[in-house]
Amino acid sequence: MKRVSKKIRIILFLSIMVLTIVILQNKTDSNSVLPVFKTVEDKTNKCVPILMYHGFTKDDENVESQKVSAKKFESDMKYLYENKYNTIFAKDLSGNIPDKSVVITFDDGYLDNYEVALPILKKYNFKATIFIIGWSVGRDKMLDGQKKINPHFSWEQAKQLIESGLINIENHTYDLHSPEGTSYGYGDNCGLGLSRLKDETDDEYKKRIGQDIKKLKMDIKENLNYTSEVFAYPYGITDKLAVEVLKENGYVIALTTEDRIADILLDDLYLMPRLNVSNDIYVKGLLESELENEFIDQKSY
Ligand SMILES: [Zn+2]
Repeated sequence: MKRVSKKIRIILFLSIMVLTIVILQNKTDSNSVLPVFKTVEDKTNKCVPILMYHGFTKDDENVESQKVSAKKFESDMKYLYENKYNTIFAKDLSGNIPDKSVVITFDDGYLDNYEVALPILKKYNFKATIFIIGWSVGRDKMLDGQKKINPHFSWEQAKQLIESGLINIENHTYDLHSPEGTSYGYGDNCGLGLSRLKDETDDEYKKRIGQDIKKLKMDIKENLNYTSEVFAYPYGITDKLAVEVLKENGYVIALTTEDRIADILLDDLYLMPRLNVSNDIYVKGLLESELENEFIDQKSY
């Protein structure tokens, strides 16, 4: 009896050893498929910073939150230019990406994008992607005509932006963009971005957000004559069903507000992170620290 139990113990021990070796082997294999970057410079070719701006102001003093002054925006663009970054549209993220690419995005479709940012982009021949909110295009007041809002560019101005060759305009929902979760536009209770309403079923949710996304996609087609394929989640809120709805509606890329540099080899195209840029966060410092961090992370694999 004693001898049998000793045998079992030996078999057990050997089995555990074999299992451990197999697990360790698999772990090494999965690690070995990760890209290896030898230098920070090398890493810049695999990471794509997707910069997120909102509004701009001509005045360098008293800059409101979520806005960047013309002077500061110019210094960010100058840094990218001097450091030989290539600007690509967000829609280009699904294709072959040139080395050292950067994506510049502006959210919400403000008139100052046209008046303040476009002339600076033109100076450097830089591209940017603007995410518009359907109901607010061309408006400087709420639908009731009373309450003033930050002015938004019109469809006519949107056409001119597209004709510049430097701007691509994409979908930020027609009317699911309200911090209070109540519609600013035509709808009823819209929820906060793509978050679900209380007691909403999967089908109801998919139908509600699908109708909204489709409506702005149609408006872009009608006014600008191309098919919108990129989406930015208001407030960065997403949901696995939202990704399904985007796919069903022909969207190939969706951007969140997760604040980190995107890795083109590892990140999901429907959950791409963006680096938030404000008036006191300079692109120079942001990119240098992000790339350095990524390099350190990489070395620790
Ligand atoms: Zn927004």
